[in-house]
Amino acid sequence: MLKELDLCQLIDQFGDDQSCRNYLESLRWHSGIHCPKCGGVKISSILKRDQYNCDNESCRYQFSVTAGTIFHDTHLPLKKWFIATYLLCQSRKGMSANQLKRTLGISYKTAWYLCHRIRAAMSAAEGERQPLGGTVEVDETFVGGKQRGHQHKVGHPECTKQVVIGIRQRNGDLRLIHAEDARSDTVREIIKANIGGHVEVIMTDESAIYPWALNRIQKEKHRTINHTREYAHGDVHTNTVESAFSLLKRGIVGTWHKVSAKHLPAYLDEVCFRFDNRQKIHIFPAIRL
Ligand SMILES: [Zn+2]
Repeated sequence: MLKELDLCQLIDQFGDDQSCRNYLESLRWHSGIHCPKCGGVKISSILKRDQYNCDNESCRYQFSVTAGTIFHDTHLPLKKWFIATYLLCQSRKGMSANQLKRTLGISYKTAWYLCHRIRAAMSAAEGERQPLGGTVEVDETFVGGKQRGHQHKVGHPECTKQVVIGIRQRNGDLRLIHAEDARSDTVREIIKANIGGHVEVIMTDESAIYPWALNRIQKEKHRTINHTREYAHGDVHTNTVESAFSLLKRGIVGTWHKVSAKHLPAYLDEVCFRFDNRQKIHIFPAIRL
């Protein structure tokens, strides 16, 4: 784990491929180098090609430190990967492929690919998180689409808006989940998958969805806020999940411009990843090995 770096320090420290490789090796093989295929620890190095050779007779796999990572088979200098990862992790509202293209002097296609791979690593990290507990806020919002208001219900062929369910643990992590619709049955499944038995309080607005979406035990912990009257009643509010929604919407409007339903889950994971790692001092929380 490294102390937080600014961009200048990052470029100083990882200005060439070798220093990037050394860093990746220290992350990946902190307890000694081993073969990614068979797990063998008898390894010899092929110095010329920055590669290693597994000495296990039945394996003989040749690999580099980037094998099986998001950098696998890349032709782009690792320095550019490091900067791209840094920018995607650090920019509060994310970064578009177009912006990355200009910043790094690479083609749009390469920039798009970098964003895609880094985002996939963020999604994988988000997928491994534990269910939320303590005090959680749950709310729903609608993103995308041109339509104003709700003339057509979500799910109607004329409606291009997508439903996002937000669940945020106070002083903890955030989940943003793309839902098929905002019906109780759908929300019930999402709550079941994302809120653990150790939850103490569940706060929502007075929407009719939630009494039906919560199970018996969750209902006993349910507190609601009437948004037509007030935003908060003591500490009963959904303001922290709503602030996450506004961050998401600023990303969609200001950075990504258009997010298709197909790619929405990846963007949601990206927002959550940045949020959940906001206080970490790793420089590359997204580098998954
Ligand atoms: Zn091996």
